Amino acid sequence: MASEFDLIARYFTRAAPDGLLGVGDDCALFPVPAGEQVATSTDLLLEGRHFFPDVDPKALGHKALAVNLSDLAAMGARPIGCVLGLALPRLDEPWLAAFAEGFHALAAAHGCPLIGGDTTRSAHDLAISVTVFGAVPAGQALRRDGAQAGDDVWVSGDLGAADVAYRLLDGQYPANAPLLAATRAALEWPQPQVALGLALRGIANAAIDLSDGLLQDLGHILAASRAGARLQFADLPAAPALAGLDAAPLRRALLGGGDVYQLCFTAPAARRDAVVSAAAAAGARVTRVGEILPQAGLSVLDAQGRPLADLPAGFDHFPAA
Ligand SMILES: [Mg+2]
Repeated sequence: MASEFDLIARYFTRAAPDGLLGVGDDCALFPVPAGEQVATSTDLLLEGRHFFPDVDPKALGHKALAVNLSDLAAMGARPIGCVLGLALPRLDEPWLAAFAEGFHALAAAHGCPLIGGDTTRSAHDLAISVTVFGAVPAGQALRRDGAQAGDDVWVSGDLGAADVAYRLLDGQYPANAPLLAATRAALEWPQPQVALGLALRGIANAAIDLSDGLLQDLGHILAASRAGARLQFADLPAAPALAGLDAAPLRRALLGGGDVYQLCFTAPAARRDAVVSAAAAAGARVTRVGEILPQAGLSVLDAQGRPLADLPAGFDHFPAA
């Protein structure tokens, strides 16, 4: 008789593509093309902390992989494969089937097969750990430490919808069914910008994916690059669903809202046409939102050119150099 973990394995075992040894041996094996480096990243998602217990399991399977693919995108790395660790408090077969469906669909869309993993029983909450592997030509990865004074600051896609959806679901904002309907997909079905990351190799000087909010994530680029930046608030690409929002929640969503999984990157002003062409080729939308400055500090200017006061909490000002 099949044990429950045989059953779990059935949902996650897929034939590995040619050249890879996937699930079923002690280790997975994958080749690394000559002249390339392996890029790897891992994320741990905990029930109640990173996702609501009642989230659609198919969306959760998608997002568990999406947040990791987004890290590969931020480095300009091409996905090779991934491994999955699951700690499950109970065996719920329909839940597992839906989770696996969401996970495998995104894996297939990005050529990132599941090549290994482990499952165990958890006493209480659900925990999901995904590790991705990618490849990037040696020396060509997009890093956080390459921003140069005079670079433009760009963001892909639009901002703020995931933050609003999160606060609605968490009860921080009064119930608003139309607004939730218009923002929820951004929170639960983020689309990692892998093609854009690849297209920006050789063009962008620095990049990061937006997981913790624009100010905080751009702050990581600035700290690593020992530089500052000035953003124009009016140029930030707000998600269309945010059109009716008051000033304070709008500011919070655009500058501090996490779970965006778009890219923030810097590129020389002389490469604007190359950035736009690369984005178009990748099917991505990009918006120029500010510039990199030689001196430390991050300011956001309003339409009159005045710095915004009281930037959203959560933003960690630069550590002393
Ligand atoms: Mg990241």
